[in-house]
Amino acid sequence: MSKIVFFCIPAHGHTNPTLGVVRELVARGHQVWYYSYNTMREKIESAGAIFVSCDDYDMEQKLTPADSVRVGQDLAFSTKILVDTTLALDDKVCADMEQLKPNCIVADSMAVWGKAVAMKLNIPFVSSTTTFAFNQHSAKIMKQSIGELFRMVLSMPKITKQIKRLQDKGYPVKNILDIIQNDDNTHTVVYTSPQFQPCSETFSDKYAFVGPSVRPATGSIEKKKDKLIYISMGTVNNNMMALYKRCLAALADTDYQVIMSVGNLVSIEEFGVLPENISVFTHVDQIAVLQQADIFISHCGMNSVSESLYFGVPLIMLPQTTEQRGVAERVLQLGAGIKLGKSDADSILGAINKICADSSYTQNAAVISESFMHCSGAKGAADKIIQVCESGV
Ligand code: UDP
Repeated sequence: MSKIVFFCIPAHGHTNPTLGVVRELVARGHQVWYYSYNTMREKIESAGAIFVSCDDYDMEQKLTPADSVRVGQDLAFSTKILVDTTLALDDKVCADMEQLKPNCIVADSMAVWGKAVAMKLNIPFVSSTTTFAFNQHSAKIMKQSIGELFRMVLSMPKITKQIKRLQDKGYPVKNILDIIQNDDNTHTVVYTSPQFQPCSETFSDKYAFVGPSVRPATGSIEKKKDKLIYISMGTVNNNMMALYKRCLAALADTDYQVIMSVGNLVSIEEFGVLPENISVFTHVDQIAVLQQADIFISHCGMNSVSESLYFGVPLIMLPQTTEQRGVAERVLQLGAGIKLGKSDADSILGAINKICADSSYTQNAAVISESFMHCSGAKGAADKIIQVCESGV
């Protein structure tokens, strides 16, 4: 029996794919501890792991709304948050690990404190990557804008200062890339198929592309018209009333059934009386909806796109971040969706009509779906983790 410690950030999109893996490990008789945040406690415990709360040590929780906007846009600022969190957790996590002596640490690629502590205490490590795996080849699809690159170069001295703070606490980290990027020697589980991952042939055999981990639906949705359009901008940056209203204007009283999930930051009352063909919710069982949907209008979060393609549903894409733009680019390359430049009502309706008239989008989505079905899934991820536990490197 192995002892395995998971670390993750408090995001559903990063946590959900790991839950099936936790279940699989526990079912095989291994013990799993899971360091995360209270909002994730219930789902982690129900997967069978021992939950350890990091809330009291989390720097992100103390961010102002203005700070939250800077995270992801300002590399020096993001690095400071990651280093602050790592150092805030340092005493507790190092003491816990010395006592537990885990056979392996599995950390989300953004929970860099997991990788940092594995490096510091020389514990075998597996990276859990819920986005595309990143190297110089796949980076080309995640095109950073010139502005982003320029800001990154300008912020390097500030980043170096943060790395020095880690080094002073005994972390053997040479540069920022050591913790935010995996090289060919890092065991890495990637939750997509080799066919959907850009340039998968350029990654070493330490990478396991296990496919998306799609949870079962908890209910079912009634399909009332020939075509069902599902709209969601995810669970993080979904405060997009203007866009939702444009979707409403595009689709009101058409022959399309529309289900829109808007999150809890907008008030559903503000939509007024809804047309008979449109339903709006703060949250839906996305898996149940996608099982019936014909088109998904999405922000292109990796989970939403994977779930959509898993059910062979083509996408209309409105990516908001660099990562989402990378995912959208890949869907475009494989012909399974349309990326919208403008999101006015006419463009939205035009894209929907185009996908309905041209079956190639649905056929190309079905090809990707097929590649997902052939992946080893949670069992493959558990095999990889156990192999690292047993080899000890
Ligand atoms: N989701 C859901 N119901 C909703 C909206 C989203 O179940 O009404 C789930 C969705 O199935 C996916 C996750 O939330 O697993 C969103 O993850 P993604 O990576 O797409 O976007 P994020 O929310 O991280 O931006």
